[in-house]
Amino acid sequence: MRSGTNLPRVGGFNRSVILDAIRRSPEGVSRVEIAAATGLSAQTVSNIVRKLLDEDLVTESGRAASTGGKPRILLRTNPTAYFSVGIHIDPDTITLVATDLDGHVRGTVHRRTPRNPSANQVVRQVAQTVRGLLGKAEIPVDRLLGLGVACPGPLDFSRGLVLTPPNLPGWHEVPLVAYLQDEFGVPVALDNDATAAAIGERWAGAGGARTGSFAFLYFGTGVGGGLLLGDQAWRGNSGNAGEFGHVVVAPNGADCFCGNKGCLEAYVRPHAIVAETATLLEKRSASLDLTLEPTKEFADYETICRAAMADHPVARQVIQRAAAKVAIAATTLVNVVDVDRIVLGGKGVRYVVEPYRAAIAEAVNARSIARHARKVEVEPSLIGEDAGARGAAALVLHGAYSPQLATLFSPST
Ligand SMILES: [Zn+2]
Repeated sequence: MRSGTNLPRVGGFNRSVILDAIRRSPEGVSRVEIAAATGLSAQTVSNIVRKLLDEDLVTESGRAASTGGKPRILLRTNPTAYFSVGIHIDPDTITLVATDLDGHVRGTVHRRTPRNPSANQVVRQVAQTVRGLLGKAEIPVDRLLGLGVACPGPLDFSRGLVLTPPNLPGWHEVPLVAYLQDEFGVPVALDNDATAAAIGERWAGAGGARTGSFAFLYFGTGVGGGLLLGDQAWRGNSGNAGEFGHVVVAPNGADCFCGNKGCLEAYVRPHAIVAETATLLEKRSASLDLTLEPTKEFADYETICRAAMADHPVARQVIQRAAAKVAIAATTLVNVVDVDRIVLGGKGVRYVVEPYRAAIAEAVNARSIARHARKVEVEPSLIGEDAGARGAAALVLHGAYSPQLATLFSPST
């Protein structure tokens, strides 16, 4: 097992620590301040910074006001030295984003996910789309730091495979990581979409808005959870921690595809929301413009979300019930991991983030065991509906900057 990061273009534990310290100070930071913040010696900081300057990864820009003695030169990251591409494979859409080293988006592509594709078709299509995106964003391939792939779990990290995700019928053991590594000659990171989104969120909050510990509740075609505890992703022994969608909210309740009963996801995923709304509409002889076609399920789901926000009585009731179920699971989550921030993101909450936020905030601050000790903040994501893809791009950046997270990368490179 490798220690530190295995990204050859950034490599080295101390370099990662120093890069992260510089990145976290957008206003610039001096060598002396880096030494104080990291515990590294002045000589080590000076040597590593010289190499980083030579490689164009950081720049010297301006000087701090002198408090007597020599004025301190400030260092900043050079965001366009390298780029990362994040690939989010969702049952509905494949999203790719290219970001610079600061995590700013340089280009985005959305493609409809092929139905029942062969593994070969998938990997070739994805590679082709990556090349198209790099061209569109004018990023030379030799400036590519790495690729990140996010998709619904469960995943097998030890083999770098996408293991038959239950929401992606036909995707059986697709060797995407190995293929992309060969194709582009760069490291490829793989993670489940909710954990990737949590890492992307930490990255987006460069000024410190997302440091420490938080849970990212990810709403896509399914429902997932990513845990960032003490600035590190908590991924569990098999890499499948945070399956928030499979917290039981109703014992002996609705059947879930996972084999359990009463899972949160069985009530709040778009499929369930559309089915429940259709039943209620019929019962009450009410109407809403739904297609009820399987291929347009997500569009129907969004119609319901928008109608709920416009006070359609049936849609509003369905979304309020769903929010109440999410709040039950969130209270359990807070009791188990004791985070003081919950972040909501993914395209599933594009229109309903506020009712979800309000229901969760009310529940966790009224019902969690530690409610008298601290307040739990519940906030919308900083990285928006492309959270999975931006998170996937951030896997690469984090692997480079935060050596503790380097295990995200396949050890086979
Ligand atoms: Zn389940």
